[in-house]
Amino acid sequence: MTDPPIMVGHRCVTCKRVAFPPDPYGCEKCGSPASTFEHWDLEARGSVQAVATVHRHHRPTPVTPFMVGVIELVGGPVVKAIVVGGGVVVGSAVEGFLVPDEEDDDGNVMVDLRFRVVQ
Ligand SMILES: [Zn+2]
Repeated sequence: MTDPPIMVGHRCVTCKRVAFPPDPYGCEKCGSPASTFEHWDLEARGSVQAVATVHRHHRPTPVTPFMVGVIELVGGPVVKAIVVGGGVVVGSAVEGFLVPDEEDDDGNVMVDLRFRVVQ
């Protein structure tokens, strides 16, 4: 695995809009069909646009309280993800990392993308 991980998105060949996750129905900006998209790697780096602390959650993990950030990736798309560690404020530079999560029905360990503040 790379550090920070690479997120696989796409770029619209017509209008150059970069999206993550890939949109199977076509470009949200110009309407070009998904068949015209090109593969686009995005580094899991960005800046926090908003942050909230979750105190109640419907699953046992992650353990509450935890923070969820709205993160604008360097490549343009905006994602929501858990941000760990202290010092998380709007404008914080963050990078992603992968952590083992629960197993699927076949015993494969899934991974979860989380972010942490970087200097
Ligand atoms: Zn487009």
